[in-house]
Amino acid sequence: MKTLGLIGGMSWESTAIYYRLLNEIVRERLGGLHSAKLLLWSFDFAEIAERQHAGDWAGAGALLVEAARKLETGGAEGLVICTNTMHKLAGEVQAAVSVPLIHIADATGRAVVEAGVKRPALLATRFTMEQEFYKGRLAEKYDLQPIVPDQAGRDMVHRVIYDELCQGIVKPESHAAYVGEVGRMRREDQVDSVIMGCTEITMLIGRGDFDFPVFDTTRIHAEAAVDFALS
Ligand code: GLU
Repeated sequence: MKTLGLIGGMSWESTAIYYRLLNEIVRERLGGLHSAKLLLWSFDFAEIAERQHAGDWAGAGALLVEAARKLETGGAEGLVICTNTMHKLAGEVQAAVSVPLIHIADATGRAVVEAGVKRPALLATRFTMEQEFYKGRLAEKYDLQPIVPDQAGRDMVHRVIYDELCQGIVKPESHAAYVGEVGRMRREDQVDSVIMGCTEITMLIGRGDFDFPVFDTTRIHAEAAVDFALS
């Protein structure tokens, strides 16, 4: 089994979910006392979020690159950035190390294609919903047409991620707002599935909330990372 280097803490709420999933998936596959071989770099998320909201992506990138190099030096044989948003910097991170980066949008794109759907609603941070690094990759590499909420919907989804989920707060009214937003997009935008494109969203909604395909990027990414570790 290969050792995975996790670039986490963005936020730690979802990194904790990754930690559990990676170990559970290895146990499911290998049985007994087997568990994942992991190194974890966990940021103080306030320092990252400050740079994101200031548009200082170069500053955030420098921090991620430093973490990636330290993980590689420490023995990581593959890297996992435990957030969709920070895959905006995946190119910089991959260029700084010689071990492979397991890209969350590739794992997700493959899962959507396998499910045979085409127009997923994309719920994520404003950065992921409004910039091209994620939607563009899904469109170009996987021929998908991700659809994002309207302005009011994007504001709501983004606010819940930063003000609630990343702080460990899960509110029934936010659950209702997310489910309602997807329902509206289904009626008005003809979406045929939903991508939970932020690694904390799994704290709030899940498969049981919808009667069409739901792609939980945290789980999909963890499965892909274990595939790599055991390959
Ligand atoms: N974990 C979230 C994501 O998957 C949001 C926090 C961040 O900006 O990294 O995008």
